[in-house]
Amino acid sequence: TLLCCSAVTKAAEYMKYKDPKVPIKSRVEDLLRRMTLEEKIGQMSQIERLNATSDVLKNYFIGSVLSGGGSVPSPLATAETWAKTINKMQKAALSTRLGIPIIYGIDAVHGHNNVYEATIFPHNVGLGATRDPDLVKRIGAATALEVRATGIPYAFAPCIAVCRDPRWGRCYESYSEDHKVVQAMTEIIPGLQGDVPANYTVGYPYVAGKNNVAACAKHFVGDGGTQNGINENNTIISREELLSIHMPAYLNSLAKSVSTVMISYSSWNGVKMHANGDLVTGYLKKQLRFKGFTISDWEGIDRITSPPGSNYTYSVQASITAGIDMVMVPNNYDMFINDLTNLVNLNVIPINRINDAVRRILRVKFVMGLFENPLADLSLADQIGKKEHRDLAREAVRKSLVLLKNGKSSYDNPVLPLPKKVSKILVAGTHADNLGYQCGGWTIEWQGKSGRITSGTTILDAVRATVDPSTDIVFAEDPDADFVKNGNFSYAIVVVGEHPYVETSGDSQNLTLPDPGPSTIQTVCGAAKCVVVLISGRPVVIEPYVGTMDALVAAWLPGSEGQGVTDVLFGDYGFTGKLPRTWFKSVDQLPMNVGDPNYDPLYPFDFGLTTKPRNS
Ligand code: BGC
Repeated sequence: TLLCCSAVTKAAEYMKYKDPKVPIKSRVEDLLRRMTLEEKIGQMSQIERLNATSDVLKNYFIGSVLSGGGSVPSPLATAETWAKTINKMQKAALSTRLGIPIIYGIDAVHGHNNVYEATIFPHNVGLGATRDPDLVKRIGAATALEVRATGIPYAFAPCIAVCRDPRWGRCYESYSEDHKVVQAMTEIIPGLQGDVPANYTVGYPYVAGKNNVAACAKHFVGDGGTQNGINENNTIISREELLSIHMPAYLNSLAKSVSTVMISYSSWNGVKMHANGDLVTGYLKKQLRFKGFTISDWEGIDRITSPPGSNYTYSVQASITAGIDMVMVPNNYDMFINDLTNLVNLNVIPINRINDAVRRILRVKFVMGLFENPLADLSLADQIGKKEHRDLAREAVRKSLVLLKNGKSSYDNPVLPLPKKVSKILVAGTHADNLGYQCGGWTIEWQGKSGRITSGTTILDAVRATVDPSTDIVFAEDPDADFVKNGNFSYAIVVVGEHPYVETSGDSQNLTLPDPGPSTIQTVCGAAKCVVVLISGRPVVIEPYVGTMDALVAAWLPGSEGQGVTDVLFGDYGFTGKLPRTWFKSVDQLPMNVGDPNYDPLYPFDFGLTTKPRNS
């Protein structure tokens, strides 16, 4: 064929940027110099998948697409359906003049959580309790495989917020109130992206290959420090505090070559981070030498409201000038592209700023091999929810459990671990047989959901699979006192907690345990020996009920593998988890973090009783 065609057609122009043998720097420059302004601004635009028709992708030269929240091809979509849907978008992008691949991104924040039957790992607060960076790295690698199985090369993770106030609805997305724990957990980045080669330049993006994904450290910076824990609010602290508490994990992330950084909705001392050139350009890009791309949050630039009366055009100007490279404009892409084009043509935004943004985006795309491997690898489909990943999630659950109380008083015999062979036990509580509650927010749907929302093992399922077949298990969500008294139970396991929430819907000024949780605890613990397992994204008010309990376990939001809980409750493994947060007595004390002058917690940061495995 070579002979035939070279005889009749002109030799194709050598497209240097398409040649994988050429160094990335030269490929970026070669491609950049071929691009029109329209093509450049298209690269800077990330749109929602529902808007990403072939026509839109081609006509606007769109650079990126996302599944926001729980935006999925269909509720039960298989890996293959996902991959084919995304491949279709990719083919549209590849058919454009320069054939620049899109980078598709998704919130895979505790496993590939939008995808039916994927492995759902514990949320970050639980991983913080493990204090095990190697475990978290392995979770990153497993997540990357499941994400790639659906044809997606980019995850909006990890959230490296240092949550300083549990009233914040995103507290469970934070590994800890202590920046040192968060810093250690950035080890998830080489899990997601692959191990960085020796002597690699700090701050330069890296993704090892087809089984890895580009990571995104978010939300830069100070997201976890907002006043009263109000989401997207103002973080009022000194520069010193910002740099010493909220910034350190970014340094670790850059040392681990994180490819992208997402900007926070929040403000720092009244200035929206999306308009903060001092921190985004001055600090992150210049001082720390970050060479990947920055991405706005979902419609994050729209929230820039100063000066008063400012309009969308001002938001575009302020955010791009501040140093945002890719803009998550799920819906308003047309307006954004128009405004930015005008601003460049009017010289309000210099073309150098645009070139800087596009260089960074192309750099990530080249580094990760998207030009060579733009399409989904359909052979990865069996990675979704596979046994090894579920076993890993189960290990994470075991290590995330924090034992807060074991025995009615310190003089009593410990009640944990529980025997597997007794005559009759009670399993009670709204959260004992609810997989959706166990997974929390960011699972199947943006706000999470109640019930059997995906594959997995509830704690009740896990108890059934663990105790001796001769042990009678009675399940009652909210039993009355007579039922418990007359039941002659050897012991009871009470599982209660918070209901799923995400972002602002999770903000809570009172942090009370939802009904009927408190009454279930009091009824059951008043009538039987009881172990309370708490499912929550953060410390909640429990001080009034702790006295009645024989044992208390903080299980956080453990995800799909309930057997991790029973592995430890019944003594196949010991308790090892440590509190990643301070457990307050009353909300009047908040914010209260380890190191504070009037530190008077119910359980201090780092607290956690231990048990030995039964056979050791
Ligand atoms: C959240 C981000 C998330 C983005 C895309 C925003 O609302 O703040 O953490 O990555 O949505 O879904």
